[in-house]
Amino acid sequence: MAGEPQDDCLFCKIVAGQIPATIVRETDTTVAFRDINPQAPTHVLVIPKAHHKDAAALAAAAPQLAADVLRETQAVADAEQLDSYRTTFNTGAGAGQTVWHAHAHVLGGRGLEWPPG
Ligand code: AMP
Ligand code: ZN
Repeated sequence: MAGEPQDDCLFCKIVAGQIPATIVRETDTTVAFRDINPQAPTHVLVIPKAHHKDAAALAAAAPQLAADVLRETQAVADAEQLDSYRTTFNTGAGAGQTVWHAHAHVLGGRGLEWPPG
């Protein structure tokens, strides 16, 4: 059920402390941790603690929680002293989504080309 922890979900396990992660920020509703395979000097993932399969499902089921995630992307950028950064939600396998628990990538600390690949 949406919002409930999923036994087979990597990010639910990080939320539960069952898998280690380098946590940079935590709120009542969100966790931010460093990506294990960073694509930029700063590459942090911001996730809702509750399980939703992607950003669109999160926004539809829990809009306040989606706003919490977005607010945290700026808090991460502030903590990492980034003036410019990119927030990315990969949605669907064709866009590179590999973990089916909504997450925002916060990328910064290098030149970020536009349009992205
Ligand atoms: P996506 O491909 O958009 O679904 O993003 C999933 C991200 O999770 C990838 O950038 C992975 O490098 C990252 N990732 C996978 N496993 C872990 C982990 N145990 N800790 C931190 N990041 C992870
Ligand atoms: Zn999950």
